[in-house]
Amino acid sequence: MPIYEYKCNSCAKVFETIVTSASTTEEIQCIHCGSTDIIRLPSTVNSIKKAAALPNAVPQACRAKSGFS
Ligand SMILES: [Zn+2]
Repeated sequence: MPIYEYKCNSCAKVFETIVTSASTTEEIQCIHCGSTDIIRLPSTVNSIKKAAALPNAVPQACRAKSGFS
């Protein structure tokens, strides 16, 4: 399940939550203050962090996969 980042408009804090396909923004509450006045942030932050932390992981995995197939 994807994890999305949200920013609360009431307390201005950013939090992450797992979102199921059935969930909507209206059903998600701020974990800090319980407000439903939140906005979803672009989920590219986590991808960038992972790529920076493991710069060689993805190319190596791709090579290994193609070699076995
Ligand atoms: Zn809040």
